[in-house]
Amino acid sequence: MNRITYSRAQDVDDAVHQLGIINNAKLIAGGTNLLDLMKINVMQPDHLIDVNHIGFNTITAEANGWLNLGAMVTNADTAYHEAVVRQYPLLSEAMLSAASAQLRNMATNGGNLMQRTRCYYFYDTAMPCNKRKPGSGCAAIDGFNRMHAILGNSAQCIAVHPSDMAVALTALDAVVCVSGPGSAREIPITSFYRLPGEDPHIDNNLGPDEIITGIKLPPSGFSKHYSYLKLRDRPSYAFALVSVAAALELDTNHKILKARIALGGVAHKPWRMPEVEVRLEGKLAAADIFRETAEMLLEGAQGYGHNNFKIELAKRAIVRALEQAVNKQAES
Ligand code: SF4
Repeated sequence: MNRITYSRAQDVDDAVHQLGIINNAKLIAGGTNLLDLMKINVMQPDHLIDVNHIGFNTITAEANGWLNLGAMVTNADTAYHEAVVRQYPLLSEAMLSAASAQLRNMATNGGNLMQRTRCYYFYDTAMPCNKRKPGSGCAAIDGFNRMHAILGNSAQCIAVHPSDMAVALTALDAVVCVSGPGSAREIPITSFYRLPGEDPHIDNNLGPDEIITGIKLPPSGFSKHYSYLKLRDRPSYAFALVSVAAALELDTNHKILKARIALGGVAHKPWRMPEVEVRLEGKLAAADIFRETAEMLLEGAQGYGHNNFKIELAKRAIVRALEQAVNKQAES
């Protein structure tokens, strides 16, 4: 049995302060991932700082048209919030495709962004894993790697990021608001996550004493033409083999004015290539154009045996998601 201590943070400054002075402490809110990891000794904090009472538990519209999702708002309350459903249906759709109703009722927005990979070997303390134990090796590269990454990998880790919410937020150009010792900053979500490189134990660019306080969404929510396509082994309560968040702005002749495409289940971070999206501008929204786009997005993709199928699966999913986005109004 591992002994742990517990404290409740009074506000964000208190949480940051405790994080800075207590050795091997972790923040806990919904606990839907952290407690699982603690039970199997994958994460072994000595102390838990409860942040459920520090505020940041509302969704608020800002004067400049942005929407701020508090970090402590649950995934369920976010996905069903009137402003999210109306202005950012892509996000709502992605969040409702994740986990189960019970988990969405407990999991917070901040916690969702911080969830760890579901690589089987990361969860198995008998196996080498550079993310769990730096320098121990990677059991997935020559192991059973059906769920693993095909883009942006390193020789140290081929894990994928598991969050559906993060994929939609990436397509929507969301910004992560964080507080640290004496200061606050905003990190575009496209810079929040990182590729594994030589240090795959680091999932993101959040500082060690920083805490997520909110997620901001820009005014443009692509609410007319969007699709979150999630392909998985069973229709619910499963992580994506491949997912696509597609958002389009079209003129009346189906010419593309703007395009956003983010992929999940394929890399250590939600995968996005703005330079490919720009090439769609001014083109007609048609299957052959979408296939060209898919080829560009998957350029350089590499399988490791069991996950080779993901390369073609991702290409087809991109085409289908973009077609669904075009036809969204007709469907609804
Ligand atoms: Fe660990 Fe990453 Fe290898 Fe999985 S893929 S075993 S998380 S190092």
